[in-house]
Amino acid sequence: MELNENAEIDTSQIDDRRSSGGGGGGGIGGLPIGGGGLTGIIVTVLLAVVGGYFGINGLSGDGGEPQSGDNTRLRQECAQPDKVKKLECRNTLYVNAIQDYWVDAYPQHFGEAYKPAKTVFFAQRVRTGCGAADSGVGPFYCPADDQVYIDLTFYKQLADQLGAPGEFAQPYVLAHEYGHHIQDISGTESEMRRAQQRDPDQANKLSVKLELQADCYAGAWAKNATGADDRSGRKLFKSITEQDIQEGLDTAAKIGDDTLQQRGGGTINPAEFTHGTSAQRQQWFQTGFQSGSPKSCDTFATGAV
Ligand SMILES: [Zn+2]
Repeated sequence: MELNENAEIDTSQIDDRRSSGGGGGGGIGGLPIGGGGLTGIIVTVLLAVVGGYFGINGLSGDGGEPQSGDNTRLRQECAQPDKVKKLECRNTLYVNAIQDYWVDAYPQHFGEAYKPAKTVFFAQRVRTGCGAADSGVGPFYCPADDQVYIDLTFYKQLADQLGAPGEFAQPYVLAHEYGHHIQDISGTESEMRRAQQRDPDQANKLSVKLELQADCYAGAWAKNATGADDRSGRKLFKSITEQDIQEGLDTAAKIGDDTLQQRGGGTINPAEFTHGTSAQRQQWFQTGFQSGSPKSCDTFATGAV
């Protein structure tokens, strides 16, 4: 993959809270969401369903009002000539490219305008509309405040502990989380949650379908990624190669439920799967990539999964 070092990186799509610290101080106009935050159990359920790669830990109920960060440093960094060498600027560019795709693709497939979603960069702990979370949960999407959350040190964990060091793991992870945003604004996620409440025995199976659909959306984006432009019409990606796609597939293989359970030293228990097996995650990323269309991503169709 080659990024266009001349492209303009739009840091307004990011909320950089990495230096804003914990607690309530320092926030500039937090988003008023709900009352005093959700309970731990509800938060856990919310995040476990649409959340990160590893399930959930370290959540507490003191969600409170989310903070807002300060993008000054990020904006400066990502305006430098060597910006694409910097992790946070590359990730900002990936977010730009993913949303640029959905601005066109979403109306085509869902018949209404795409609603942009910010990605929050945080360090260690963060307050969200879904409650407080720590880095251990992995990247996640919070449907209550429509934001993607990521601690960028996650990629080191992905490389060192899970064996997915490829650069393309990064846009894949972000595109998967934006897949959850698509499911949120299109109503798929709330429909799925109602189905889970009606039929709790099927809750994990439904979660797997939701997760695999997000993988498929990531694949559909990857196919179209080189079409993404900045505000002035300059390409964000110069090229994406077969090796990149292979790295996306390799990442999908490392974060399948069966692989993670095995790695955790436990026995493989399909009843506990919430994200799909390695093979399924690869298969659905591939399905999206081959068609290049969200239409191919109906994991909820009878017999699809
Ligand atoms: Zn997910």
